[in-house]
Amino acid sequence: MIVDCHIHLYGEREKVGENVDELLGYADRLGIDKLVVCLGPQLCQQPDTRRLEMDTEYVRQAMDHAPERIEGLVYGSGNHVEKSLELMEQHIANGPMRGVKLWVCRRCCDAALDPIAAYAGELMVPSLQHTFLKAGGSKPTEARPCDLVELARRHPQTQFLAAHCGGNWLHGIRTMACQSNIAVDVSGGEPEAGQTEYPVRSLGPERVLYGSDAAGRSFASQLGKVVGAEISDNDRSLILSKNAVRIFGIQ
Ligand SMILES: [Zn+2]
Repeated sequence: MIVDCHIHLYGEREKVGENVDELLGYADRLGIDKLVVCLGPQLCQQPDTRRLEMDTEYVRQAMDHAPERIEGLVYGSGNHVEKSLELMEQHIANGPMRGVKLWVCRRCCDAALDPIAAYAGELMVPSLQHTFLKAGGSKPTEARPCDLVELARRHPQTQFLAAHCGGNWLHGIRTMACQSNIAVDVSGGEPEAGQTEYPVRSLGPERVLYGSDAAGRSFASQLGKVVGAEISDNDRSLILSKNAVRIFGIQ
C-alpha cells in the first residue's frame, strides 16, 4: 500500500466528486492507494470562519465520495481558534477525519495555537504544519522549522508533521531532529539527491512520510524521492505507508 499524506484537491467546489476521480486517476497510474487531503479548492491567505467551515466540508465530501481512498484533515487556523476546535470536535471526535492542518495565517509558535495543538493530542490525531525556509525570506506568518519545534515542545503528547521537511531540508531536519514528536513529509520541491536518505539517517525511518503536495506537484516527481532513495526495503515501506497508517490511524 502507498499513502500520500499531503494532498490538495483543487477544482470547482461544486464538482468535488469529479475532482476526486480525476486525481485518483493520476494516483492509480503510480499505484498510490490513499490520499490524505487538506485545505480547500483554492488557497486563501487569511481564511475566515465561513471559509474554514466550507473547505472542511469540501474535504468531508471528498471522503464521502471515495471513502476507501480519501482521508481528510480539518482546516485549522490560529486566528479562529474557537471555530477550529468546533470543527475538530465535529469532524474528528464525532467523525471520520484524521487530523488537523494548521494554516500559515499565524506563526505556529504563537501561544494562540496552543488549544488546537492540545486538542489534537487529546484526540490522538496529528497536526500537519507547512514549514518552509525560503532563500529570499519566509512570509511573516509562515512557519519555520524552529517555530514548529517551539510548539511541539509545549505539546509533547501531540504528534506533529512538518511538511516539506522545512523547505531547506538539510537545515530543517537538523533543527527538528531534537523534537521526537515531529515527523516530516518529503513533499514539495524538485527531487534532490539525499533528500530521503538524510532524514532517515537523522530522524530514524519512523519519522519520515511520503507526501507529494499534489496537485501543486506531480505524484511521479515526489514519489521518485522515496522509490529512488538508497534505503532498505523495510524503511521504504515505513515511509510509503506504515508510518502514515500509524500516525493517521488509517485502517
Ligand atoms: Zn501543501
